[in-house]
Amino acid sequence: MSYDRLNKSKRFRNLTSAVGVVLMAAIFATAILTERSLSRLVDSRELVTHALFVDKTIRDMMSQMLDAETGQRGYLLSGRAPYLQPYYTALAQMRQSRTALGSALSHEPSALEQLNVLDKAIAAKLQDLEHTVSLKSEGRSDEGVELILTDTANQTMNAVREALRSLETNQILRTNQQIAKDEREIRNNYLILAISVLVNLLLLAGLVQRFRNAVTQGDADQQVMDERNVELSRLLAEAATRNEQVQCLSGLNRFLQSCEDMDEAVGLLKQHLPSLMRSANGALYLMEAEQNQFSQSFTWGGKTYVASFAPGACWAARLGQPFRQPFQSGSASCAHLQSGQSDAHNNVQCLPLMAHGEWLGMVVLEAELVSEQPEISEIEGSRRFAIEQVGLSIGNLKLRESLRQAAIRDVLTGLYNRRFFDESSQREVIRALRLQAQGNYAGLALMMIDIDHFKRFNDQYGHDVGDQVLREVAQVLQNQTRGSDVAARYGGEEFTIVLADITKELALGRAQRVREAVEKLVLRPSGKDVGVITISIGLAQFPANGSTVEDLLSAADKALYEAKNAGRNRVVVATDM
Ligand code: GH3
Ligand code: MG
Ligand code: MG
Repeated sequence: MSYDRLNKSKRFRNLTSAVGVVLMAAIFATAILTERSLSRLVDSRELVTHALFVDKTIRDMMSQMLDAETGQRGYLLSGRAPYLQPYYTALAQMRQSRTALGSALSHEPSALEQLNVLDKAIAAKLQDLEHTVSLKSEGRSDEGVELILTDTANQTMNAVREALRSLETNQILRTNQQIAKDEREIRNNYLILAISVLVNLLLLAGLVQRFRNAVTQGDADQQVMDERNVELSRLLAEAATRNEQVQCLSGLNRFLQSCEDMDEAVGLLKQHLPSLMRSANGALYLMEAEQNQFSQSFTWGGKTYVASFAPGACWAARLGQPFRQPFQSGSASCAHLQSGQSDAHNNVQCLPLMAHGEWLGMVVLEAELVSEQPEISEIEGSRRFAIEQVGLSIGNLKLRESLRQAAIRDVLTGLYNRRFFDESSQREVIRALRLQAQGNYAGLALMMIDIDHFKRFNDQYGHDVGDQVLREVAQVLQNQTRGSDVAARYGGEEFTIVLADITKELALGRAQRVREAVEKLVLRPSGKDVGVITISIGLAQFPANGSTVEDLLSAADKALYEAKNAGRNRVVVATDM
């Protein structure tokens, strides 16, 4: 070999190696970025789980406080010592919840002050409760009963409620800010990922070009050629796999991260999943936890699949890992595939959609014959990788959704909570003002609803039955409202319904219907007859009784008071201003 050729070959080797090193570095960087995006997804999930835990503990504390109060009242009114048992149990549980809340919020300095306020409020309420219980024990029942009827008893409970609510609001606010930050970071990561994929491809193209030049110029000997060939093939295969994975990831996951709810996510998956899975036919099933079944979300490719199936009907669900139907047997092993058109010769497989051990769904794929896809192992790899990513994104989305629901729903009844009512009623009134000015608005009605003699359910049958009454009444309110109405738990055993675009006469008719429906409720907890449940309703109308939420609430409250005084179980319409 001449000196010139040797030199050229050496230069080629050096340059190719340099490009190879840069390419490897770029691939490595891509992998790190992928890993960072993943760990952000995981962080974001842990954050939401933590927020949900804090939220639940706060709600537990409220119900434990009410339990303690119910026990205290039961003891005072009935004089029966067994009532003290739930009282002491509730106190013990509350101490546990307080400890759990303290450690959950220990790394959040801003919560410290609020915890102090809460502790003071709880101490005041407990002192109240203990005082009345000891009065009773000393035989001074009348003084005890007198005390629970005063406003102070209500005020101390309200102070606890307020302290818990402000802790909860702050927690949700902090979590939402952190989630938004995480989401921004994940989106940025995906952008950088897309750029690094591009760089990888450019480097690869450069390398191939360099190699071609070398071959045409004939300045590399056979040994060098062979060496380069092996190295190039390896780099090519590695880069191709990595790029494919990254593309799956950056395309779909970036969008999934921005989805508002599951419906939107399903819309996206419907568009992207078929090409991502590289299979001609398939179906996506989502887990319905309440029914413990996989329900079909959509299919592609024209084959039919069963609408839903139990986890026991699928081997992938039973084994907790991807399952390929046996190739030779002729029919599928999974029971949910046997009733459809699928057969095992079509290379059918079930891929579980999971996040952190939680079942989210199942993807059924029906591709071409294995023998017709030489690079099947590579396809499988990228499929599984993509399914993992999609699972994480969907898992996070679901958690975010449940956090959002926790922020606006009352846990006990499922109705909207006071916070949501405050915000949405303000919005409704503003809308009403605007539409009224345009002259095409019938009016807005606000019902204030209170369960009659509710305390009797708590005192006679216990807090659980009281809770059940609340749930049943809430269910009636929910059934009696239309989509545009807002039925909320205002607090304790009080509810509100806001009806948009409705005349006074129609609103009165609706209120009467709600009252009658509650009166018809039959409740038999453990066979006991709790008697008839009735409600009183105060009805106020915009604009006749005011043009602000505060005015409407106070008019409805006054009307409700009149309904109570007039004998309860009735609707009273507020008198026009
Ligand atoms: P009225 O007909 O005058 O409205 O009488 P009432 O007994 O319904 O009125 P009061 O406001 O005195 O009693 C409400 C009770 O509701 C007191 C409180 O302990 C109880 N309560 C508040 N929230 C809950 C809850 O979440 N669950 C249960 N079981 N009871 C609750
Ligand atoms: Mg009340
Ligand atoms: Mg009441």
